[in-house]
This record gives sequence, structure tokens and C-alpha cells, in this order.
Amino acid sequence: MKDRDILTKLVHSGQTLVTEANEVVEPIYLSATFRQKGFSDLSGYGYARSNNPTREALEHLMEALEGAQRSFGFASGMAAIHAVFSLFQTGDKILILGDVYGGTYDVLNNIFEKYGIKYEVLTETGIEKIEKAITEKVGAIYFETPSNPTLTVHDISKISRLAKAHHILTIVDNTFMSPYLLRPLALGVDIVIESATKYLGGHSDLIGGVVSVRNRELEEKIKEIQAHGGGIMQPFDAYLLIRSIKTLGVRLNQQTASAEKIAVFLSNHEAVAGVHYPGLPTDKGYEIQMRQAKNGGGMISFEMNENYDMEKFFDSLQLLIVGGSLGSVETLISHPVSTSHDNVPDKWKQALGITDRLIRISVGLEAADDIIADIEQAFKAARIH
Ligand SMILES: *Cc1c(COP(=O)(O)O)cnc(C)c1O
Repeated sequence: MKDRDILTKLVHSGQTLVTEANEVVEPIYLSATFRQKGFSDLSGYGYARSNNPTREALEHLMEALEGAQRSFGFASGMAAIHAVFSLFQTGDKILILGDVYGGTYDVLNNIFEKYGIKYEVLTETGIEKIEKAITEKVGAIYFETPSNPTLTVHDISKISRLAKAHHILTIVDNTFMSPYLLRPLALGVDIVIESATKYLGGHSDLIGGVVSVRNRELEEKIKEIQAHGGGIMQPFDAYLLIRSIKTLGVRLNQQTASAEKIAVFLSNHEAVAGVHYPGLPTDKGYEIQMRQAKNGGGMISFEMNENYDMEKFFDSLQLLIVGGSLGSVETLISHPVSTSHDNVPDKWKQALGITDRLIRISVGLEAADDIIADIEQAFKAARIH
């Protein structure tokens, strides 16, 4: 049968285990343990840290969406990232391309550094610069595209080809896009991470993470880390995610349409020094973004001009919610340099463009005109001269 469209998979690929009740919705299995078939028979579900039917339904849904050999549900995006970095050994080095989620630097600095796993942040990410940085110690190239918070686009096919030639892994944190807009495994990536807290969950009411892998070898390793590390996704969260993912496509279609309008509004506004949105034809990442992803997505960042007061701007917003997180039904706005990216060393902040004037917006499902009106009135209030 012809492979079905992703819109269809979003709705139907989460029902894997229909019981005698013929349910339409995957049940929530809360059982912490399962009866063995015999005293020494460990086939079947066994103990729920290793395997749980509701979590498994979510994992199979994610496999269908990402085109993965296997997907694994974790307690958070950070637990997923922690599991992936646990693949490496003392002496290994991970190349990080440009800016990534603030917590990713934190887990490397605060946990993996102690184990002798090193990383290097490349502030210039042209393919020649990456190739030059691949020394014998490098075990993986790790990146986000578009990145957080500067929305920089990286060419996934090109980078994973380079990694393959050097026999190292390519790892992509796909949280900003979700598998509805971008499927990195199909472009040669080995491991995809999603913070399910964001677009997959979409309603600011759960924390979760997913790791998806392209081959059996990685499947076995991540399975081991998931079962023995124990940072698993809980059944109720898996149920909520299956429910949320059914509307991922309609949500992102609307969020993208609004983001395109808001990006144009910002580009034309005198309060704005620069807009980063890979769905704008003038954006430096536009061409690659359109080649590898469905569209520009729902995240925008921009620099506000010096003659506008930052605090006044944020304090004046009435509809937009000032806060961390992203990908939700409500529009969220943040000041990365003082919040999510506070811990990034200053030398990188400057080089990467995570400046004092940078503002990040996660576009929600409100009417685009209402979002624009709120930003407009806050600009007016924030104007100094
Ligand atoms: C939020 C986020 C994470 C961390 O996920 P949690 O679910 O908060 O642990 C990782 N990567 C990106 C890009 C994120 O936005």
C-alpha cells in the first residue's frame, strides 16, 4: 500500500493495540508490572520501566512520523538529550553547530564534562569549517535547524554526508520543527531528538521527550539507556501526546501562516533592526529551509532597536505571554539572553548573535492580527525617542 500522508499518520498511527473493547483511543495502562506467562518467562511486558503499552503506542506513532527504526519516550526533552549523550565515552568530543537550546550546554558542562566527554561550539558553521573541526576524537555532530534562538538554518544532507564520510554520528534536535515540518532521518541523520513539551504536546501541559534512531545498533543502545537509566515517559503523558499529535498538522499550518504575517510586519517596523525567520524569502536560510522542510514554521526572533526600552516592551504586552517554552497554542515571547540562554558563555553569545536586543516569539493559535496589534502597542509604549 502507498505510504500515507503525514496528516493521516498523525491521526491514525497512535492506535496500535486494539483490545476486545475495540477502542478508538489508546487506553492508558497504569500497571507498573505485568503477569508473566510462566515463572521464568520474560516475554511480554514484564516491568513497566522497560516497557508499557501506552508509551509503546506513542513510540510507534513517533516511528511512523519520523520514519525511524525505533523511537523512545523519555520524561523530558533533557532526559532524551541526556540519554543520547550517554552513548559517548571518556575522550569523545561532540561538535555543536552554533546556538542550541540553553539546557544542552548545561548538561554537557554540569554532567558530561565530569566524565571526560568534551564538546566544541563552532561559531562558524560552513561545511569547510565543520570538516576542519573533525579530529580523531570527534564522535558526533550535533545541531538544531532552525537553531534556538537565532533561527539559523543548517544544511542537513550536506552535514550528514560529511559525518558519514568520517564515520561519526549526526544528531539533530528537531524540536523547533517537529516531524510534521521536517524529518531529519530521511536526510541522513542518525538520531533525532524532540522535546515533546513543545510542538508535539502543544498545550503547555506536559513535559516529555523522544529519541528516534535510524538503525538497529542505535536502537539497542538507546533501549538499554532508557530501561537502565530509567528516565521514561509516563503513561498519562504518552496518552496526552498521542491526543495532541492528532492536531499537530492543523496547529502548525495555522501557526506558520500567522508567523509569516508577523515576520513581514516585524520586517517593516521601525522598532525592528533585524528579523530571523527562515520562511521569509529575504532570510539567509530560506533556500535551504524550503528544500529540507515543509515551510518556515512558527518560531521567529528579532532584534529590537536601541531606541526602544526592553523592559517597557515586555511589561506592556497584554495578550502575548512572557515566558519560556514554545510550540504551544498560546503565543509565548521571551528574552533569550537573560533566560533560556543565560548560562551560555559570553564569548559565544556575542559570536552567535544572542544579544541583549534579541527577542524570541513562539506564534500560537490566536488571530495573527491580534498578535500583531499587541506587539504594535507594546512597541509604542516602549519607544524612548
Ligand atoms: C525545550 C527544549 C529542550 C528541552 O526539553 P524539555 O522538555 O524542557 O526538557 C531541548 N531542545 C529544545 C530545542 C527545546 O526547545
